[in-house]
Amino acid sequence: MKKNNNKNKTKLYSIIIAICVLIAAAGVGIYMYMMNNQNKNKMDENTLSYTELIKQVEAGNIEKIEMTVGSTSLKVKMKNEEEDKKAIVPNTQTFMELIQTKVQEGNEIELIQNKVNPLVTTSRALISFLPTIIMLCLFILLFQMQGLGDKGKVYDAEEKDTKTKFDDVAGLEEEKHELVEIVDFLKKPEEFHKMGAKVPRGVLLCGKPGTGKTLIAKAIAGEANVPFISMSGSEFIEMFAGLGASRVRKLFEKARKMSPCIIFIDEIDAIGARRTSNSGAESENNQTLNQLLVEMDGFDTEENIIVLAATNRPEMLDKALLRPGRFDRQIMIAAPDQKGREEIIKIHSKDKKFAEDVSLKSISEDTAGFTGAELANVLNEAAIIATIKRHKAITNEDLDDAVKKVTVGIEKHSRVISDKDKKLTAYHEAGHAIVSRYLETQNDIKEVSIIPRGVAGGYTMYKTNEDKYYISKTEMEEKMIALMGGRAAEKIALNDISTGASNDLEVATKIAKDMVTVYGMSENLGPISLKTDDPNELLVFGEKIEDVIGAEVKILIDTAYLDAQKLIRENMDKLDAVAQKLLEKEVISGKEFYEIVG
Ligand code: ADP
Ligand code: ZN
Repeated sequence: MKKNNNKNKTKLYSIIIAICVLIAAAGVGIYMYMMNNQNKNKMDENTLSYTELIKQVEAGNIEKIEMTVGSTSLKVKMKNEEEDKKAIVPNTQTFMELIQTKVQEGNEIELIQNKVNPLVTTSRALISFLPTIIMLCLFILLFQMQGLGDKGKVYDAEEKDTKTKFDDVAGLEEEKHELVEIVDFLKKPEEFHKMGAKVPRGVLLCGKPGTGKTLIAKAIAGEANVPFISMSGSEFIEMFAGLGASRVRKLFEKARKMSPCIIFIDEIDAIGARRTSNSGAESENNQTLNQLLVEMDGFDTEENIIVLAATNRPEMLDKALLRPGRFDRQIMIAAPDQKGREEIIKIHSKDKKFAEDVSLKSISEDTAGFTGAELANVLNEAAIIATIKRHKAITNEDLDDAVKKVTVGIEKHSRVISDKDKKLTAYHEAGHAIVSRYLETQNDIKEVSIIPRGVAGGYTMYKTNEDKYYISKTEMEEKMIALMGGRAAEKIALNDISTGASNDLEVATKIAKDMVTVYGMSENLGPISLKTDDPNELLVFGEKIEDVIGAEVKILIDTAYLDAQKLIRENMDKLDAVAQKLLEKEVISGKEFYEIVG
């Protein structure tokens, strides 16, 4: 939604560039054609040289001359010859004068002047103007990109009457409840003023991208029937110095004129990150942030403007932003639980046709951890897949495909894979699956595949269980073992390791780090939070603290890798069998997998 404006702009620019290129190509084409023709003229045996032409004119042998304005090539009819001849003159003007004097001297020469060929002139004009046109386009482009072009573009978007209502936001009941008072305030500010009540001026919506922060902000505007003015913090990153602050000022100026209204600042962390030094880009950010603070402090009691801001990292924000009178209220927007997902799915399936055996509830159960945006995306992809496959309605299979497309990317059947790579992928994925099979806390296998999807060469899909609020230490340890299963299988079965495990390692390392620094689960450091953006804060624990953290993380990872290798060694026969099956069929279902491994 939010990026649409920019996308449209980019589209427009591409079109302008495309047109420029086309004009250039056409111009060059025509020019070459003309040059070619002129060359032909020169080559022809039927061509008179200029000196010869003059001689013939003097001798009175010319009956008729045909010329085209703007062209130096002539058609010449001689008195004693049937066929027309061609001639090229260096300068038509002087040649004409010469003819005229000859005519005056009594020489009878019929002179025909043809009108200009419009195509030729336009193309000539275009060719001569081409550099100017291209430069002009480039300039416009540059200006637009810097946001200097049109003053109206200062604002990302502005909607006078938002149609979005709270009913369009599924789940999030408590959050909506908290925001009702803001709707009431925007509807009847006088009543609040009369009572002397203070309503929050700024509300910070915290949550992962796609959880519906923009949606709920729009719904507030829709419910209160006030304008919704929005901009995104990330837009400030590439701007000229001083522009950020002036943009913030203009945004609030505009809001004051439209009050009561809502200002929505997406990705506020891009401008509101904690102030540190005073150099370069940071001081530019500081100016923007300061302006924002000034504007929010300058709110009059009579101004009925509510500023909503969204971020995924509230801990990054400058403390000054969170002081009373600014963004003093925070609302956490979590990814939806199963019931929430079911409701979101319901909303987004209103205009879609489903086969009879499709159960929205079971989709919601299969999509633990998905955000509202991802669910909306799944349903849309399913509808696209169903259309392409010419199904009468969206089937369970289409939905399954859509979930895979959204999570692991699209299947890439066309990618050519060597047998060696195939074998490697088969053992890698079989490794994940086999190891998981012997780990209590890990979910059941849903599907194993060696067909490349997205950036992955293959994947192992797990059945999702009910959402959990807490994850145990054992579960995290076993998750790391399962992640190491791929690398372990490569090492043991093929006696070599590959780059295929990079993502597994990344995820496992993140888990290990969190275990040590966030959840206080390491043996040697104990229950302590070492979570911080500023390494200096850790110094209270002594100078060596970072070494200890590093060592603890490494122990966790190494242990997981060893455990994975042990499980693989104990189940080599099963690993071979699963890998073999994968090489044969490319995809095996959970059922087939458990038939092999028991
Ligand atoms: P955010 O601002 O948190 O990144 P958005 O509000 O832009 O997320 O959500 C993107 C899209 O995802 C919405 O336009 C909507 O289609 C869908 N969506 C997200 N959350 C919900 C929800 N709770 N109910 C219905 N649709 C949702
Ligand atoms: Zn892997």
